[in-house]
Amino acid sequence: MHYDENMKSFSRPSLNEILALMKEPTNADKALITKAYTFSERAHKSQKRYSGEPYFNHVAHVAANLAQIKVDATTITAGLLHDTMEDAGIPAETIEKEFGAEVLTLVEGVTKLKQLKYRGAVRHVESLRKFFIAMSHDIRVLLIKLADRLHNIQTLEYVPEEKRHRIALETLEVYARLADRFGMGKWKSIFEDAAFPYAFPKEYEDVRALIKNKHTIDERYAIKINRSIQKELAANGLKSAHVDYRVKNLFSLWRKLKRKEMDPNKVYDILAVRVVVDSIEDCYQALGTIHKHWKPVPGRIKDYIAIPKNNGYRSLHTTIFRGDGGVIEIQIRTKEMHDEAQYGIASHLGYKEKGKGQTVPKSIPSIEEFTKWQKKVAESDDFEEHLQVDFFRDRVFVFTPKGDVINLPEESCPIDFAYAIHSNIGNHVSGSKVNGKLVSLDTKLRSGDIIEIETKEGATPSRKWLDYARTPLAKRHIRIELEKTSTISILAKKFFGKRK
Ligand code: MN
Repeated sequence: MHYDENMKSFSRPSLNEILALMKEPTNADKALITKAYTFSERAHKSQKRYSGEPYFNHVAHVAANLAQIKVDATTITAGLLHDTMEDAGIPAETIEKEFGAEVLTLVEGVTKLKQLKYRGAVRHVESLRKFFIAMSHDIRVLLIKLADRLHNIQTLEYVPEEKRHRIALETLEVYARLADRFGMGKWKSIFEDAAFPYAFPKEYEDVRALIKNKHTIDERYAIKINRSIQKELAANGLKSAHVDYRVKNLFSLWRKLKRKEMDPNKVYDILAVRVVVDSIEDCYQALGTIHKHWKPVPGRIKDYIAIPKNNGYRSLHTTIFRGDGGVIEIQIRTKEMHDEAQYGIASHLGYKEKGKGQTVPKSIPSIEEFTKWQKKVAESDDFEEHLQVDFFRDRVFVFTPKGDVINLPEESCPIDFAYAIHSNIGNHVSGSKVNGKLVSLDTKLRSGDIIEIETKEGATPSRKWLDYARTPLAKRHIRIELEKTSTISILAKKFFGKRK
């Protein structure tokens, strides 16, 4: 059976299905995964999902999602165990003893990320994404987290209604964006289309209605032009070219429509023809052949092979006049580029070197490779220019009691936190709690801490606070307040002095 990440709930990928998805697993790999599969099934035995199905179904899906993108056996093992610590009460020592320290590190990493929740405050979304990266020192933790959410978002209909909206928004704002950044186009689309109807129900219906008609016409045309293109390419020496088409996923179509006055005729790639050929030379030859027969729309030819997109995406794009008044986008790429466009970062982890026209499978991707990729992805980011590995070395990420993430410099204290929330809170701090315990105001905060601030109307900053605070914002406000109070006391002295 062919596994697809879009698989419906109430199914359970079998051990053999998971093993079959892997890229040339060794006997040791198979043994490890078999052990984890049985272990996890037993650990989750008494638990059920919201849908009523056995909890382990979810776990098996997460493992299958990971095997699908060809990550190593350690990651799949950790995927099978990702909920055993928190949800099934399995102690860390047991996981380490049975599966090793590396698997434990990954499982602990995923467990830590669970405390994160998106609360709808736009200013925290950026921090949340950065936090994800910072907390996952190993990119494999992030991949497990994405595989986990991929199954959860597809079973969202069973989750209590009041939770759905938040989860859907979080999926769009954090998970889909991360998948996109990692060049995992397929997962990005699944995240977006599964979340869209719950996050923006009205807009979802609008878009569907808007393009219903256009889809039918375009699709009929695509089937026709696919055949003509295939014929032309074959006649010009590209016999092995594979021509297909894809429909733009609804959520990204909606985003694009918003920029085009909601006019579907202004979006050229609702439906795109996809040409997959053997080599880069063939890509350019295919482009030339197509332009010889169909006139290209000026300004729409894009060479993402010579200049790849920031997330690594490579292809040639062109838009041609169909001859009936309409236009259609054509994307030309090699098989390797196609795999990359689906699974991005993960597809690179599975391959090592390229032979002529083929890729040589590699057994186990090393941690160095993951780290290298993590760094590369972080550096090539276009919407978070400050997102660099070094950036996190001297930052801490802490939470409000509601789960909002606040990003502060290292060695920050509760006073910095209070001012980061609001100057009015900072100016009236009377005490603070970290993880539920009362602490002094000079306590150094650590990533993952939950901070509560107590305020009193009469409380004011003291001079000592200037030594505690790390952020310029806090220091500035403290100075202003100190000056105010000293001015008042001078005035008071004068006033009371005269009266004396
Ligand atoms: Mn899970």
